[in-house]
Amino acid sequence: MTARILNGNHIRDQVYSELTREIEELRREQIRPGLAAVRVGDNPASRIYVRNKIAACEKLGLASWQLTPPTMVTTEELLELVEELNHRDDVDGILVQMPLPAQVNTKRVLEAVDPAKDVDGFHPTNLGRLVSGRPGLVACTPAGVMEILRRSGIPIDGANAVVLGRSDIVGKPMALLLMHANATVTICHSRTCDLAAVVRRGEIVVAAMGRPAMVTPDWVRPGATVIDVGINRVNDAAEAERLFANSPERLAEFREKGTALVGDVHPDVVAVAGAITPVPGGVGPLTIAMLMSNTVKAARLRRMPRARGSAAPGASAAAEKVARR
Ligand code: NAP
Repeated sequence: MTARILNGNHIRDQVYSELTREIEELRREQIRPGLAAVRVGDNPASRIYVRNKIAACEKLGLASWQLTPPTMVTTEELLELVEELNHRDDVDGILVQMPLPAQVNTKRVLEAVDPAKDVDGFHPTNLGRLVSGRPGLVACTPAGVMEILRRSGIPIDGANAVVLGRSDIVGKPMALLLMHANATVTICHSRTCDLAAVVRRGEIVVAAMGRPAMVTPDWVRPGATVIDVGINRVNDAAEAERLFANSPERLAEFREKGTALVGDVHPDVVAVAGAITPVPGGVGPLTIAMLMSNTVKAARLRRMPRARGSAAPGASAAAEKVARR
């Protein structure tokens, strides 16, 4: 048996074509959604992530700004910058690219973002809304996983779902979204006993640990849907030979480039699972698509009611203040 490949690029394209229609609708109301990305210092990975996000904005015709404070920026200076963005009416979404330098109080900065513009879904207000099943802005990666499951017709209602990882940005919101979709959810972490046995109970398995190829075929129930959130870089030739022993194309690619990306799921799981997301080209494209979707949603919620002359339902106090100006 070989698993059905859940192609994230195709699903992203579907999301983009729906968003294009929504952006056009907003344009008719003189609204152009805009995303401001704050990237501190010169972290090469952050540079690539932000570049990809800005490129997605440009592709969809959203406004975008990149703000690049220096590495030595203080918490107070960043708070000031976020406050400025909170008050700008043309900015619908604010994203602060992680990680921030050690001297910055990350929590204070993230909590300073107006929840109505928190397109990463990291603000405790949005996380609280998710817990209680109220509408809000949801963290992009788990929201993207739900798009993959739904658009691929994977049954969620009543399914046993196992989430590997309990971070605030992936594992926890992922488990909540699956629970709200009526899955029976088990959340695993580094202290879970007999992880393999727990994972084997999963009809849906979402791996988000940052542990290369840790989920091996013997952990997976035959026919399960496996969503691989992990992104790990492999540079070691011996490790690549082991991982890609049954994936000649991946091995050839590694030999050519000397590097490869691998998820938290071993490539051989494709022979056991019923459906699986590849790495790369699975969850990753949906993370950016959901950021775009959240930016459009934030613009619609905050600016559309005003454009049509009524109060914004559920908008934050700060957003309403902006709306009144
Ligand atoms: P994180 O904050 O480091 O959290 C990792 C989680 O995995 C923690 O809850 C940790 O448990 C658990 N874990 C670690 N080792 C484990 C083990 N041996 N057994 C069981 N659980 C273990 O990571 P994250 O930010 O959630 O990201 C997870 C992965 O997803 C990373 O590879 C990251 O690069 C990737 N990612 C991908 C995307 C995308 O767009 N595709 C987006 C975001 C993240 P404890 O809580 O007990 O420490």
